[in-house]
Order: sequence, then structure tokens, then C-alpha cells
Amino acid sequence: MKNTPNIQMVDVVGQYRRIKSEIDEAVLGVLGSGQYILGKEVAEFESAVARYLGVKHAVGCASGTDALQVALMALGIGPGDEVVTTPFTFVATTETVVLLGARPVYADIDPMTFNLDPARIERAITPRTKAIMPVHLYGHPADMDPMVELSRRTGIPIIEDMAQAIGAEYRGTKVGSFGAFGCISFYPSKNLGAFGDGGMVVTNDDALAERVRMIINHGSRVRYQHEVLGVNSRLDALQAAILRVKLKHLNAWLDARRRAAEVYNRLLDGADDVVRPIEAPYARHVYHQYTLRLKNRDRVAARLAERGIPHAIYYPIPPHRQEAFREFGAGSFPISEQAAAEVLSLPMHTELTEEQQAFVVDAVKSVQQGK
Ligand SMILES: *Cc1c(COP(=O)(O)O)cnc(C)c1O
Repeated sequence: MKNTPNIQMVDVVGQYRRIKSEIDEAVLGVLGSGQYILGKEVAEFESAVARYLGVKHAVGCASGTDALQVALMALGIGPGDEVVTTPFTFVATTETVVLLGARPVYADIDPMTFNLDPARIERAITPRTKAIMPVHLYGHPADMDPMVELSRRTGIPIIEDMAQAIGAEYRGTKVGSFGAFGCISFYPSKNLGAFGDGGMVVTNDDALAERVRMIINHGSRVRYQHEVLGVNSRLDALQAAILRVKLKHLNAWLDARRRAAEVYNRLLDGADDVVRPIEAPYARHVYHQYTLRLKNRDRVAARLAERGIPHAIYYPIPPHRQEAFREFGAGSFPISEQAAAEVLSLPMHTELTEEQQAFVVDAVKSVQQGK
């Protein structure tokens, strides 16, 4: 067997090295500016994201989790309210609902896209439902048309958790503008990653944008006047300056991810019992993750580990099975539970080489061929 090439799950340092001079200059500019929170850098980055996504307003905040929380707060969601969401996601989606005293109500997923199944959302709606929260998981957009139709019919707003999906498209339109809010994460490993935490809320609604601006800054527009209950969740100027540089490269990076996904797809073509990720006819997938479904997932994961190949399971335990959320959103969600038992994400980032991918795929196939 060949020596293990140095493969990483996510290569944030390799990406930085390619644009080091641009990033360093932006960072040094902020250090000398004296403006470290909000201010000009954040405002310019917000405008750049709004233009990129084709939305009217973008408001920076401290993390993707906070973006979800302030969006829920801006809609006035609290005790007694329900939010219909997916049981196959990162914990933040459920956590923010529970933190505000509301109740997550789960609807199961579409087994092919891993995203909320629109037909099941409708059955989960009650008179207490105050929001629908789809997640564009792994960078593949959820099926928005039926959700938008349901939202119009019922008046229940949609909050898109687009933490993994900046730049993904649904029928040619970038995600983030289908609901009342789109919530972005700039966690370092995300497709547009900061060098620390960061997040953003986007919306086309002027009044909601204004409300979010107040909430992220202690509920205040004018210093020491507090109109609504808020939090301290502001974006750092340093992160905004870095992200503004990185945003210019985002389309090229998303193309690189899509090319890497095509290479995996080709190399895995015909492999037994390996379900490759799909791209639905309505979708432009941005491959935050390249995630397989495997009946013998744990054996494949063990083989990858033996060969020193990074891999991950997003997510092994659905929120309704987590200790912290035991009393919320009970129920049986067999499609999500089966996905949790079968998914395996392979290394995916902008710096992958075809040789590295061949090495990864060889390890996957070696198990499937019983070697
Ligand atoms: C990363 C992520 C979040 C939270 O973002 P942070 O910036 O880490 O707080 C929320 N939802 C999903 C689906 C995510 O992947």
C-alpha cells in the first residue's frame, strides 16, 4: 500500500496560504483602524453579502447559532410557540428554539436529499406553529417551492438555516431569500469561513431587518435606549474584513467543491452498496459535505481510520434522542434515524487533489469488495 497522502477533512490553512497577502493586508488595516466591532468593515461586508445573495438586507452577528436565535427573537417566538424543523441537523437548530422557551416539532426528511420533506411539514403544523425552519443540509437546498406555498397559505414564516449552504441555488435563485430570514454561519470550516466565529441574518423585509439590528446590539438603536429585549451578538471588524476578501473567491471555491464532488462521483461509479449524494433537478449543490450512505458504514469508517483518512459522521444522534432535549419534540423519525446510522462524510474542501480522492475511494471500495 502506498503511503498515506496528507489528506485533511477541511484544509483552512492551505486555503489561507493561497490568498495570504490579501488577507494579511485586510487584517492589518483593521488593527490600525481602531474600529473593532461593527463599523465600516462590517457594513461593507454586509452590503457585499446582500448583493451576492440578491437580498435587501444583511446583518452581521456573532455566530450562525446566534443568527438563528435573533431571527426567532425578531419573529417574537417564545413560550407556548412551536417551530417545525428537521430532526437531521446540527444541534443549533433545535437548541435556539428550546432556549427561547418554544418547542421544536420535527418532521422527517427526504431520504435522498437529507432535507425536510415538505409533505410532512404540513402534518406537523398546529395552531401554535410560529415558524418553519428548514436546513439546507450539506449544502443541498431544501425543496422550497412547496414550503413557500405552505407559508403563504398559512401565514407561518420560514427561517432558512443556510449555515452550510451559502451560494447554493434553488431553481436558479440563491437560498436565503425564500423565507422571512436566511441564517448564515461563518464558522471556520463552513464554505465561507472566518478565522473565528461569525454569522449573518439576511432578509428582504425592512422592518424585520431593523428589528434584527436592534436585537444584536442589546435591543438598542440609540445608545442606552433599549426598545426591545436584545443580546450582545455583533460581528467583529476583523472577521468582516477577512470575509470580505474571501467572498470574492467564493464562487471559484464553490466550483472547486463541485469539481471534487464530480471526481468522487466518477471514482465511486459502480461501487457496490454505496449511495452517492444526489443533486435534485431543482438544486445547485455547494457540497459543504460530500456524504455517502452505506449499509456497512461503521466498517468503512474503521477502514478509513486504519489508513489515516479523515472522515466524519454528521450527525450520529438526532436531536430528539439527545439527553438535553429529551423532553422536547419526542416522536419517531425513522428516515432520520436510518440516515444517522448510514451517513459518512468524506474529506471535502477546495484544496483536494484527484490523487488524494483516489486514495480515499480506494479505501471505501476495498471494504465493499470484501478485501
Ligand atoms: C454550523 C451550523 C450552525 C451553527 O453555526 P455556528 O456559526 O457554528 O454557530 C447552525 N446550523 C447548521 C446546520 C450548521 O451546520
